[in-house]
Amino acid sequence: MSTDSYTKSVIIVVKGVVQGVGFRPFVYTTAKAYHLCGNVSNTGEGLLIHLEGSADAIEQFCTILRDNPPALARIERIEIREYECKNFVGFEILDSLHRNKTTSISPDIAVCEECLEEMNNPHDRRYGYYLINCTQCGPRYSIIETLPYDRSCTSMKIFKMCPECQAEYDDPANRRYHAQPISCHACGPVLSLMDKEANSIAQGDEVIAKATELLKNGFILAIKGIGGFHLMCDASNESAVATLRVRKKRPKKPFAVMFSHIDQLCEYLFPNEQESRLLTTKERPIVLVKKGNRSLASSIAPDIDTIGAMIAYTPLHHILFSHFPSPLVATSANRSDEPIIRNAQELRERLGDVVDFIVDFDRDILNAVDDSIVQVIQNRRTTLRMGRGYAPYSLVHTGFTPLKILAVGGQQKNIIGLAYDDKLILSPHIGDLHTIEAMEYFQRSVETFKRFYDFQPDIIVCDKHPTYATVQWAKDQGKHVIEVQHHYAHALACMAEFGLNEKVLAFCFDGTGYGDDGTIWGGEVFIADPYNYQRIGHIKPFRLLGGEKAIKEPKRIALALLFEVYTLAEVGALNLPLLHHFTSDELALHHQAWEKRINAPLCSSMGRMFDAIASFCDILYENGYEGEGGQRLEERYDPHLEAVFDYTIENGVVDFSTMVQKIVFLAQKKEFIYIATGFINTLEAIIEEFSDNSCDLSIVLSGGVFQNKTLLSLCVTRLEEKGRRVYFQEKTPINDGGIALGQLYHAVHGAKSHHG
Ligand code: ZN
Ligand code: ZN
Ligand code: FE
Repeated sequence: MSTDSYTKSVIIVVKGVVQGVGFRPFVYTTAKAYHLCGNVSNTGEGLLIHLEGSADAIEQFCTILRDNPPALARIERIEIREYECKNFVGFEILDSLHRNKTTSISPDIAVCEECLEEMNNPHDRRYGYYLINCTQCGPRYSIIETLPYDRSCTSMKIFKMCPECQAEYDDPANRRYHAQPISCHACGPVLSLMDKEANSIAQGDEVIAKATELLKNGFILAIKGIGGFHLMCDASNESAVATLRVRKKRPKKPFAVMFSHIDQLCEYLFPNEQESRLLTTKERPIVLVKKGNRSLASSIAPDIDTIGAMIAYTPLHHILFSHFPSPLVATSANRSDEPIIRNAQELRERLGDVVDFIVDFDRDILNAVDDSIVQVIQNRRTTLRMGRGYAPYSLVHTGFTPLKILAVGGQQKNIIGLAYDDKLILSPHIGDLHTIEAMEYFQRSVETFKRFYDFQPDIIVCDKHPTYATVQWAKDQGKHVIEVQHHYAHALACMAEFGLNEKVLAFCFDGTGYGDDGTIWGGEVFIADPYNYQRIGHIKPFRLLGGEKAIKEPKRIALALLFEVYTLAEVGALNLPLLHHFTSDELALHHQAWEKRINAPLCSSMGRMFDAIASFCDILYENGYEGEGGQRLEERYDPHLEAVFDYTIENGVVDFSTMVQKIVFLAQKKEFIYIATGFINTLEAIIEEFSDNSCDLSIVLSGGVFQNKTLLSLCVTRLEEKGRRVYFQEKTPINDGGIALGQLYHAVHGAKSHHG
């Protein structure tokens, strides 16, 4: 091309998830196709493109960039400006420029179809290669040490590519062009099988046959995935699953199950269309799906009618399944709710008494990331746990903050968040911060995100709860701290996801959170905007008999509700299944504690209310897992019953006394379906009544209680029928995993107003 045709010269900056998704090869091929000269490079900000050529060609290039970018890219912004001509010759891909790090990091992606075809093709040089990947698939976040996203900044840096891999990496026409984690049998990490004492049993390809044989024999294997290890065993082997339960000291909480492909899943479960689609997306989340005709080991998900299901997502999973015919239990390798374990040594130290064998490979997981969990409600995806595939998650808001803000989230299901410029970024699920290990993981995540985004916070946002570990941590950092009330943060999280800036009517129903008056809240009605909120309603507080103990033993909450309505003598005379779970001495002691307010703090939590109703329904008395009461209650919901209970609302305070009396009457007759149905319908009626009184406002439904599919669907349907605009979180967690997002949303608005 002659220099005469250089009629225009532009610089294009592309921001968003643009690194590690095959963007530079895409730019290269497109530029070549339009005879454009210049170069492209990854920078800390995103992607930088210099283009020289005819104005027409540049315009066509930009159209393709906007309309047809690589499948995995998420473009947030494209900036184009003219530039003085440099007379570039040809088009090239430059080495990354190390500048400030504000680009978004791609989450980890399931192996793609093309890679799977190669892996299954005996004539391909990667036949049976258990770590196959390309620009369109494979690990990202989990192996990145720092930005920009280049092999030298990942845990693949210690593996030198063989000449064949290098040639693919260097060839712009190849689908592995600049794919950072690529490798092959000759040059990549090697698979190994060992026992729990770290004795080697097999290496490389031999591992597969040995490992599947062990699974067939009922052993429990820890198998390395993308963001951590899974504990796996044969999902149709009752004794293997039962052994895993005993060893993991996890009596009831359901285990996730991995299927080889969607057809296999459909033999066992009944996914609807939307669920099937989600199961096979490149993010490959765990999806809650209804159980089907063919059954798996019954102890996988006792007493409930759904299974957390996922489809194989790493090449290694697929190879294992080609040797193993049935579904596999695949639960995170951790101790109860602790962070997922990411290396074999830690695995042996912490789960040596749980696993029999370990399948490992020497590509290190630098950033642990748990499987995501979603469920379909009202044809929309709702997020119960935001991890692999979805996180790190970034969204853009309409404002701009000149400050750097770190949000430390809540105490349970912790996620941290960052805000700068117009961006809000969320980490993957970190977990419950009740242990030293979990707090260490929290701090490591803070450091990782500070490194990724070159971030020193000016402001730290936290909850108001004085004993949350994150709150204490925030206050120890010597920075300006903003505290945001827990349930207000729930409402804000939803507003952030939908970019709502106006006043909304928010129903924040969840487990427990620290209220402004020092009591425990959780059944709250607010009028809120991003700056402030007003508590216009709540359920009448009741007492948590035994404090924290009441959360573990829902029967105590049911008893407290009885004491609100009946005398001790009257309670003693009731013929309730619930009361068989107390001796008469215990009843007297509890009543005394209730009366004298000894270790019986007040709370207005809707989550606890659900637990109490589950106790009245003879479902759940003690030691449930979080959310069990709600989940099992909704399984007893009968949509054909027109059951609804009386309640009163006075000055915004919802009094359930008459409902409790009615429930007691029904429970004595064992009318549990009527109770479960009536309770859920009553909550909907209450929401409707508050909504009718604020008919000009949009409605926000947030907090863990709305993970209840029946309740959420009912509310959305009824309110939308009335023409109301209803919002609930889809992409970000509706439970405490969303707290950091809400904290950020408040802070960016506050920070903005401070600085004009
Ligand atoms: Zn691929
Ligand atoms: Zn190679
Ligand atoms: Fe909460």
